[in-house]
This record gives sequence, structure tokens and C-alpha cells, in this order.
Amino acid sequence: MAEINLKLKKGDLVKVVSGKEKGKQAKILKTFPKRRKLILENLFLVKKIRRPRKAGEKGEIINLAMPVSVSKVMLVCPSCNKAVRVGYSFKSKEKTRVCKSCGNKV
Ligand SMILES: [Zn+2]
Repeated sequence: MAEINLKLKKGDLVKVVSGKEKGKQAKILKTFPKRRKLILENLFLVKKIRRPRKAGEKGEIINLAMPVSVSKVMLVCPSCNKAVRVGYSFKSKEKTRVCKSCGNKV
């Protein structure tokens, strides 16, 4: 079975290219390769009410980050500072992720 590769990983800075958060940048907090989704820091939040578990406790409103499709984001290249497509280079037998715009390692 082929390895599922999102080309993006936890900690990457990405730019949202469609949807309600379009144009914003955020860090990837988590990836779900099988579902081709990821969770971004402080974006696509929904408010959820956490019910009190004990009598006398107050329910609280928490912000939950919803997973977004990888197709909605692009990596922000640290070298050219643009939202770019990424590819792989196999020079020196090692697989390196590279920016398709400037060719630098990302
Ligand atoms: Zn670049």
C-alpha cells in the first residue's frame, strides 16, 4: 500500500487559500493523513459548550479547531515567503521537500 503523504507536516506554516479563513496564515497543529485533513492553530474554530460534570459547576464555552481539508491550504515557503506548492527532490538519495517556486528546501 502506498504511503499517504500530505506533503505537509505538524509545525508547518501554511496559508489558507479558500473558505471563510482565506488569506490567513497559521501553523499546523495536527495532521490526519488518511482523511487528508489538518488542524490549524487558532483557525476554523467553533464554539462548543462543555457541560458541567458536577452539580454546582458552570458549563464553559471552549473553542474547538475543526479539521480542514489539505486542499484549502498551501505551505508558506520560508525562503520566498509565498504560499507555494511543494515537491520532492531525491538528490543524494535523500528525499527532501522543496519549494516548487524557488527550489529551496522547505
Ligand atoms: Zn520558495
